[in-house]
Amino acid sequence: MCCDGTLFDLVRLEPGDDARRLARLGLPLAAARGRQAARFPQPCAALCADGSCRVYADRPGQCRAFECRLLQEAKAGRVSFPAAARRVTTAKRRANQVRRLLRALGDHDEQRALGERFHRTSERLEAGPADAAAHALYADLSLAMHRLKLEAHAHFHTPPAATPAQRPAGKAPRPRTAHSPRT
Ligand code: SF4
Repeated sequence: MCCDGTLFDLVRLEPGDDARRLARLGLPLAAARGRQAARFPQPCAALCADGSCRVYADRPGQCRAFECRLLQEAKAGRVSFPAAARRVTTAKRRANQVRRLLRALGDHDEQRALGERFHRTSERLEAGPADAAAHALYADLSLAMHRLKLEAHAHFHTPPAATPAQRPAGKAPRPRTAHSPRT
């Protein structure tokens, strides 16, 4: 879910990332602009069908550093690994429900992040006339997306990084690039 557009819309590069090499390896990088770092969209072009990363040895710093909240909790012993696996299964089920509803509403663009697809579908339906069936599907989609977001915020996203003074030494992996605000 970290790389398939469920939890994140994009990944920003950091100082130390080799943008040219990553671009040569096939990541569709958008160049840095103003204060915006170079970035690439999710679902990631390097994500393989078996869930592995095609550029693992060269993956960006955010990818190396990120541990979702659930993994942190499991490693700390606050959640058992079987319970964490069940939580992942639930979240995947919710994400798949969102995908099904998006397809039913005419969005088949699996190459875009779920948040972006939801936003686009919302705009389309709100802009033009839609029949009762589409309204009913959109209501289901909105609820499914809301549940997925709650799940993501509660169990997968990490809190904003503490300031250096607050951060325990050697701990607290950086939060990975967050969802865009619209998701
Ligand atoms: S580069 Fe690899 S680890 Fe990073 S988002 Fe893409 S697939 Fe995931």
